[in-house]
Amino acid sequence: MTSSSRLTSHGTIKLPTITNEPMKTYAKGSSERVGLLAECDKILKSQPLEIPCIVNGERIYQSNQDLIFSREMPSLRSHTLYHMHGADKQVIQHAIEGSLSAKKEWEDMPLEYKCAIFLKAADLLSSPDFYRYKINAATMMGQGKTMYQSEIDSSAELIDFLRFNAYYASQLFGKQIDHHSAGTWNRVEYRALEGFVAAVSPFNFTAIGGNLACAPAQMGNVILWKPSETALLSNYLLYLALEEAGLPKGVIQFVPTKVPSHFGDVVLNDTNFAGLHFTGSTKTFQYLYNEISTNLPKYKSIPRIVGETGGKNFHLMHPNCDVDNFINQTIRGAFEYSGQKCSATSRCYIPKSKYATIRDRLVEETKKLKIGQPNDPTSFTSAVIDERSFDRISGFIERARKNPSCKIIAGGNCSKEVGYFVEPTIIETTDPNSETMEQEVFGPVLTIYAYDDSQQTYLDQTLKLIDSTSAYGLTGAIFARDRADISKCVERLRHSAGNFYINDKSTGAIVGQQPFGGSRTSGTNDKAGSEYMLLRWTSVRAVKETFMPLKHWGYPSVDME
Ligand code: NAD
Repeated sequence: MTSSSRLTSHGTIKLPTITNEPMKTYAKGSSERVGLLAECDKILKSQPLEIPCIVNGERIYQSNQDLIFSREMPSLRSHTLYHMHGADKQVIQHAIEGSLSAKKEWEDMPLEYKCAIFLKAADLLSSPDFYRYKINAATMMGQGKTMYQSEIDSSAELIDFLRFNAYYASQLFGKQIDHHSAGTWNRVEYRALEGFVAAVSPFNFTAIGGNLACAPAQMGNVILWKPSETALLSNYLLYLALEEAGLPKGVIQFVPTKVPSHFGDVVLNDTNFAGLHFTGSTKTFQYLYNEISTNLPKYKSIPRIVGETGGKNFHLMHPNCDVDNFINQTIRGAFEYSGQKCSATSRCYIPKSKYATIRDRLVEETKKLKIGQPNDPTSFTSAVIDERSFDRISGFIERARKNPSCKIIAGGNCSKEVGYFVEPTIIETTDPNSETMEQEVFGPVLTIYAYDDSQQTYLDQTLKLIDSTSAYGLTGAIFARDRADISKCVERLRHSAGNFYINDKSTGAIVGQQPFGGSRTSGTNDKAGSEYMLLRWTSVRAVKETFMPLKHWGYPSVDME
């Protein structure tokens, strides 16, 4: 990405060149592995951290036990990571008022200073001497990611979001009107929204919490950020990095809550509510959307609603594809981070003519995946996030076990004795509409289905089946060699995935390279990691200036008496 120049009141600014953050490998014997594992050890040896709300820069601790949430480590339940001091309704109200007080100064701050804050935060997060190992370790132990998975998330993607958002904002600010009638000058201003934005983030990506709060802030908005109660170890550190980078008090208020609905109850009822930046499940998003619709008459403006939600992501194997590539991409897509990525591969379509061989290879490879502690370098994946998730995922597995059209051919064991462990599981089904072919499991469960490729029309029929099976439209991949068939898949599956892959897995979108988001019930598809997203957080004002005075109100076409 080339750097961009922008004219300001006092000269021209040019952002540093923005490129994707290089990833560390954490290979055996590397100094980065030693550094990261040392931070994990510190977390294991520490007393539980007391995590406050942070409102106008003030730390708020609660004495009322009903507001305090104790978080066990997902892979080692005996270890308590932190006590979260959640916001009650009064604290949330106070945070709204504080953000509105901070608004004018933030909005008026020149773009280059806002960019400097987020670019500095990115550098602090990138540096092993400051946050890199600490926040990766927090993501590992707190959210159950292995070394490389946390590097993808809380280093690479988070840093990319901060840097690329600064770049996209500066690009947007440079966009001006090119057409002017004689004697006039037209221009546009990129204003922040009137009021405050609520950012509500999920547990599964530290980077998403950062983007939900920081993208609207980059455009001059003030934010109430409600992180997920199960991702606080990393999200709190991220907030500290933003403070260290110079983010003014009150611009982003850090308000976790023990009861999530308390946040919505206050925020969505406030007349100054101007926008929701949400990532999480479709069910929660639909609930919040509905509340906003009901409350519409209360608001000073029509709120912007940006929501990225669930998925039921597919891999389609064409009979002539590269088999090794298909197997390896499917294993990564389905089982990395225990399938807890919104883009995780969860339904697979395999041609009957090759089915037995492919199924056996998938099973063979899946059996090699070790699940264990996130800081054990031999673990491919670790525990799922919490008991609620564990119960939901094991419920899907148990129902599949009892379903005559399904057979569990790999994994299927679950235990919550030490941590919330679910084995990478493959379900074979003869019913393309069985529960785990249609619904989001959000766990390490892949369902495979053999489609009949003996007829000439097999591809048309299979594409129709893929397109119509699930209510979601997030990600999907096809594996094929034949260009005519690739082209047919791309065309027929146009609306079945907002992020579509050819010979690559359904996961792994990179900021600045594959803008991310899906349609149908997967969200508003406003594309995180792109200029489209930043456009949602600004309300453009058009200004026309006329240089020459009007001498008379009449028109030549109207004959004057
Ligand atoms: P979730 O819906 O349970 O929670 C998301 C956030 O909403 C959390 O902060 C939660 O506390 C909050 N919340 C829940 N009820 C609320 C209420 N009534 N009022 C206000 N806030 C409320 O989702 P999760 O389990 O944290 O995340 C997993 C889900 O997120 C999956 O469905 C996954 O597909 C989706 N996801 C989507 C994307 C994407 O980009 N499309 C990315 C990551 C995760």
